[in-house]
Amino acid sequence: MSTTIGRIFDLTVMKSPNKEALYDVRKDLRFTYREWSDEVNRLANALMAEGVKKGDRVSTFMFNTEELGTAFFACAKIGAVFNPINFRLQAEEVAFILTDAAPKVVLFEEAVEPVIASIENRFPHTAFWFIDSAAPDYAASYHEKVKAAEPKAVETEVDENDLYAIMYTSGTTGRPKGVMHKHRSMAEQSLSVIGATKLEAGDVGLVTAPMFHCAELHCAFLPRIHAGGSNVILHQFHPKKVLELIDSEKITKFFAAPTMWNMILQENLADYNIESLKLGLYGAAPMAPSLVHACHERLGIKLVQAYGMTEMGPAITFLPEDDQLRKAGAAGQACLNHEIRVVKPNENGPSDPDELAAPGESGEIIVQGPCMMMGYFNREEASEKAMHGGWYHSGDIGYLDEDGYLWIKDRVDDMIISGGENIYPREVEDVLHAHEGVLDVAIVGMPDDRWGESVTAFVVKKDPGVTEEELDEWCKNSESLANYKRPRKYEFVEELPRNASGKIQKFVLRKRMEDVLTEGQAH
Ligand code: ATP
Repeated sequence: MSTTIGRIFDLTVMKSPNKEALYDVRKDLRFTYREWSDEVNRLANALMAEGVKKGDRVSTFMFNTEELGTAFFACAKIGAVFNPINFRLQAEEVAFILTDAAPKVVLFEEAVEPVIASIENRFPHTAFWFIDSAAPDYAASYHEKVKAAEPKAVETEVDENDLYAIMYTSGTTGRPKGVMHKHRSMAEQSLSVIGATKLEAGDVGLVTAPMFHCAELHCAFLPRIHAGGSNVILHQFHPKKVLELIDSEKITKFFAAPTMWNMILQENLADYNIESLKLGLYGAAPMAPSLVHACHERLGIKLVQAYGMTEMGPAITFLPEDDQLRKAGAAGQACLNHEIRVVKPNENGPSDPDELAAPGESGEIIVQGPCMMMGYFNREEASEKAMHGGWYHSGDIGYLDEDGYLWIKDRVDDMIISGGENIYPREVEDVLHAHEGVLDVAIVGMPDDRWGESVTAFVVKKDPGVTEEELDEWCKNSESLANYKRPRKYEFVEELPRNASGKIQKFVLRKRMEDVLTEGQAH
């Protein structure tokens, strides 16, 4: 018997049919596993009635909803390829993905309707199903179609090695690429998460990070169902709402990106009863050790870190709760059945998997394991490059310590070279994050005539009185920051540009500064 995503779902339905499976906060809708299973089967039948066959793509373009979760399993059951699209993307970015993935059906919601309205006529062979209500402008409403369909189980043969999803990377490094994953890889990823976060049937999870991103979908939502637990789906992250739901729904575990944890900590925590909360998972971007510390102290919970990338499903390391303080700042140890290497970078092409860096020596992080993507959709050359020699080449720089723990320094592209010295933005960010007056910070390298590049800090103030001189003094006095790494310039901003998964879009900051400099030269 194949372990497909559909099979994982069915096994939990059989085991706990009357247990509450999900609560969609937006619609105030609750489903038991049996009710949800009927809905999944109805959608599967409705898609087949639309002509969707095994291997056809079905896209979702929405915030966090029950419908996205239902589509995830309905596609898996009929062997259709699930393609969740980032709800923050604008018309041309969505059009790019729809052209590349060529889905048969796109499910979308009200909040993103204007985007669909502006491009829909370019895709005459795609059916657009609106999930919110019947709208005369669209051929069909999702719920009309689903209601009209039978809840009987579908009989499509699906194998665990079949393609199950295409997930477009959010593109912090260029045009989005469609990462292809098979069922089996995600079953493995899910098992790995269950082990690392000790998920049990009694767990109630909060879905608040974006479901279109594999960090939420594969590292939180799916494993919770796999373990027989349940999910509370919050349409969009909002720190107050998160705390209210932890209180009212007795949430036990959830995933949030570092920036979300930071926002939660800014709330008045004494207003809520968060005793049910046992564990928080964080990842997708670096989290400053000072923030990890604040979560322990103020939320009184244990934390587990995941590090990874869409191409690996995503998690490739976990830093377990017991290591959070002992190994503060590390990304953790390799996930089950995964091997991680740090190799000497090669400037002229993919690095050689056998050119190992010594323990403690920085190099490119490469990884091999059962969760590795099948490749990029329609991008053979890029796939060959990324998976050169059977290893996924991450483009991240890091090192392995003597105990086998991985430490991430930064992305190859974000490294700053100033006066011939390598500076990893993350170490400067960690120092500034620890200053009380700083809410958020990003370090980028800016072109500099004398040094090649110079270190620039973009800072969001927590204390409005904080000054550049004070922060410079803080960096000077820091024992973990050499003098040449100190920012030479500070820009105070209202907020940092982040993508939906919480990563700072440094290319936006660089562009902003370049524009300011060019304007300055023109005058
Ligand atoms: P693109 O690959 O096009 O830039 P993306 O940023 O959306 O798109 P993801 O797969 O979401 O791609 O992100 C993977 C990257 O996120 C990793 O390579 C790493 O740089 C960063 N990252 C993920 N988890 C962590 C973590 N725990 N600590 C530090 N960095 C992390």
